[in-house]
Amino acid sequence: MKIVIVGCGLIGVTTAYSLRQRGHDVTVLERAEGPAREASFANGGMLTAGMCQPWNGPGSWRILLRSLVRSDTALQLRLSVLPRLMRWGTCFLRNSTAAAFERNCRSNLRLALHSLEAMHALREQAQVEFGRAARGSLGVFRDREAWRSACRETVQLFSDGLVARRLTVAELVELEPALRPIAHKLSGAIHYLSDEVGDAQRFCEALAKVARALGVDFRFGSNVRGLEMHRGRVAAVITENERFVADRYVIAAGAYSTALLKDAGIRLPVQPAKGYSVTFKEANSIVGLRRPMIDHDLHAVLVPFEDGSVRTAGTAEFAGFDSSLKPARVRNLLALTRELLPEAQLNEGSAIPWCGLRPSSPDGVAIIGATPVENLWVNSGHGHLGWTLAAGSARLFTSLLSGDAPDIDPNPYSLKRFS
Ligand SMILES: Cc1cc2nc3c(=O)[nH]c(=O)nc-3n(C[C@H](O)[C@H](O)[C@H](O)COP(=O)(O)OP(=O)(O)OC[C@H]3O[C@@H](n4cnc5c(N)ncnc54)[C@H](O)[C@@H]3O)c2cc1C
Repeated sequence: MKIVIVGCGLIGVTTAYSLRQRGHDVTVLERAEGPAREASFANGGMLTAGMCQPWNGPGSWRILLRSLVRSDTALQLRLSVLPRLMRWGTCFLRNSTAAAFERNCRSNLRLALHSLEAMHALREQAQVEFGRAARGSLGVFRDREAWRSACRETVQLFSDGLVARRLTVAELVELEPALRPIAHKLSGAIHYLSDEVGDAQRFCEALAKVARALGVDFRFGSNVRGLEMHRGRVAAVITENERFVADRYVIAAGAYSTALLKDAGIRLPVQPAKGYSVTFKEANSIVGLRRPMIDHDLHAVLVPFEDGSVRTAGTAEFAGFDSSLKPARVRNLLALTRELLPEAQLNEGSAIPWCGLRPSSPDGVAIIGATPVENLWVNSGHGHLGWTLAAGSARLFTSLLSGDAPDIDPNPYSLKRFS
């Protein structure tokens, strides 16, 4: 089949590679000059089945309401975007009951475990290097009750294949001595044993190179202006100066997927959630962190990369498509880094700030597969887990589009769940 994919972030590039491996003829249209220049550029780097929870846990509405008057909450909502977020927000809140949260958590976990496996196979097959390290990840807790509750939730996920162990603070410090300076502030931790870390942007560059050698036609600098519709089907994808015709059209344009699908009359419930990171080059010689960790009370991840850099990432801001770097949010992330590494004395002046728009669905679960328009498909809405879920989503997507039996139940990821 001839397939055109719009978008060359983590999702577009893994989908292109997977479809090509299955024997399809693939063209990728990307407006940037290379792969992974938007949300996939400088993310937290964590391939994490352990932290598969959607953001809308029970009580998240309280955090969102508080964010309207405070600027230091983990989830930030801007008043100006409220009208546009009404429908999405209602669905977000509907999915924050305990039962919905648990169901969505399990859906993410199953796709994450499938993805870790798919990623191992992809690595073997494509021989891509992206600074992978597989020492697990750590969730650390300051609040004792939050730790206990997270331990209970984690145990419940063992039946779905999650592998993790509970750590006391003493055990944590023994495993990760870099955390000794904050040990007195912590109540406990969880070690997610199957989690990994790697540089997503490096991965995309490397995989695109392999895919190109296999015959995928990457058209960088191609801004898709819209879909040309004819008799309820997509007739072509239109860029600034070309028209691309295919058997199937795939929208993998991250947070921008919603606007593109509108041309076909499809309402995709994906909204941008802005996140920030700061990267300290060659800092791990001072920090000495061996595995990534998330501080659940500060809502920030601290990640050591194999090239010696250390990255802090966090914040989720519903502020529409404003992709500008706000100095206040960068300062906030630098302050969090100081809280996490009070003795490291990192050179903040040399920190590289970045922000990206996570493509977020209202239930926190990705949207993978067919749409009501027969030749138009979607792979988007991976939110804060797009790096973790990319390889498995691509594999699931390829099975569905090719009419093969999928390895996992595709229903939790279907767009139909919102109809
Ligand atoms: C601060 C931060 C930290 C994160 N940390 C982690 C983490 O630790 N682990 C994890 O699993 N996930 C993490 N994520 C989430 C992950 O990065 C995203 O889910 C993922 O990058 C989404 O990939 P994507 O391909 O869907 O979107 P993108 O990477 O945004 O790619 C979409 C592409 O489509 C292109 N495009 C859009 N519109 C058009 C058009 N009209 N024409 C042509 N091209 C178009 C864009 O240029 C872009 O290249 C993090 C995200 C952020 C922001």
